Amino acid sequence: MNALAATNRNFRQAARILGLDSKLEKSLLIPFREIKVECTIPKDDGTLVSYIGFRVQHDNSRGPMKGGIRYHPEVDPDEVNALAQLMTWKTAVADIPYGGAKGGIGCTPKELSISELERLTRVFTQKIHDLIGVNTDVPAPDMGTNAQTMAWILDEYSKFHGYSPAVVTGKPTDLGGSLGREAATGRGVVYATEALLAEHGKSIKGLTFAIQGFGNVGSWAARLFHEKGGKVVAVSDITGAVRNPNGIDIQALLQHKDKTGKLADFDGADAMDSNDLLSHECDVLVPCALGGVLNRENAGDVRAKFIIEAANHPTDPDADEILSKMGVVILPDIYANAGGVTVSYFEWVQNIQGFMWDEDKVNNELKRYMTKAFHNIKGMCQLQDCNLRMGAFTLGVNRVARATLLRGWEA
Ligand code: NAD
Repeated sequence: MNALAATNRNFRQAARILGLDSKLEKSLLIPFREIKVECTIPKDDGTLVSYIGFRVQHDNSRGPMKGGIRYHPEVDPDEVNALAQLMTWKTAVADIPYGGAKGGIGCTPKELSISELERLTRVFTQKIHDLIGVNTDVPAPDMGTNAQTMAWILDEYSKFHGYSPAVVTGKPTDLGGSLGREAATGRGVVYATEALLAEHGKSIKGLTFAIQGFGNVGSWAARLFHEKGGKVVAVSDITGAVRNPNGIDIQALLQHKDKTGKLADFDGADAMDSNDLLSHECDVLVPCALGGVLNRENAGDVRAKFIIEAANHPTDPDADEILSKMGVVILPDIYANAGGVTVSYFEWVQNIQGFMWDEDKVNNELKRYMTKAFHNIKGMCQLQDCNLRMGAFTLGVNRVARATLLRGWEA
């Protein structure tokens, strides 16, 4: 099942549980605006090349729309649509005053030079600058984009609208980026895990973790689980996988990866087949890479008791059903990885106020938001007698539906 079908299915189930009016249900599903632009740039050799850029703005009933911009060869309008919708529910679950959006350009960033990437980003910004803004739609980095990409968008946007640091988040700190933003999604994953484990009378210390993906989210989550006394027993990325039943020294693994560019040949762990990561013996499985990795074929092999969905939609609906029958507790993506957008919100607040916070304040506020959201989700689970995924969906959808009705929605 593709990402959009799975997201729509979860939304419809939540709407049924909440007893939403069918016309309101339909209108909440339809994106506010779908933008498609052709971005033509000269390559360094003088030839012209054209790329398609998308921005889907899903909903703005609770505030400006918010979501990443991805540079990837397989940027697909359906997936962008699903991710924009997920952002609407995610910002509502985190209770930050935003709606949802997502964008991307179909390109292979590794094949473009820095100056080609800059030209592409500036042309894309020129095409959409009237449709984004501090109070309309605030982009952030996603796969294939980074703080530098945000700096170019900020600069190009400011040529049309005056200096506007709050138009993007995930900027370099020299341009008003927030301290703690880089680690925020991984740190949020760890706070979310702590809240879940506390509910089960457990803590990170002494539990074993298997982590798929060692990029921004996976490496920060691994580092912080390790710092808190958790044993990270297996880690994988696109280059391979390593295991150590006594726990991997994550700082040393990070240094090894920085030096060699891969996980293999690390002294402190044995190589393993990365296909076995998801079924590795552990207490907590943390997918931090791609969507759809847990499916009908492999869900039955999972040995973890808890799955923390740090990646977006890593568990397809078939796997969800199988795992819940097995008694595996799944902490859903629209909550578990909300730490990134929450600190993006803090960045926007700091830019608007012109007053920057220290890192401790960012991390303490992040913990407060993540913990509160968990208790709000649990409240919905009790009220609606549902699992954590439906608890999160009903919480988010209900908040957006209420805002829509309060603003005056006409059937
Ligand atoms: P990233 O590009 O920094 O890292 C992705 C990691 O996944 C890399 O280590 C890569 O090697 C690994 N990977 C790719 N294919 C793999 C495979 N087949 N098997 C094992 N590992 C593989 O990306 P990221 O920012 O860490 O994002 C990871 C996930 O988290 C994505 O689903 C993203 O949408 C989601 N997410 C990220 C953020 C954020 O702030 N970065 C926020 C919310 C959600």
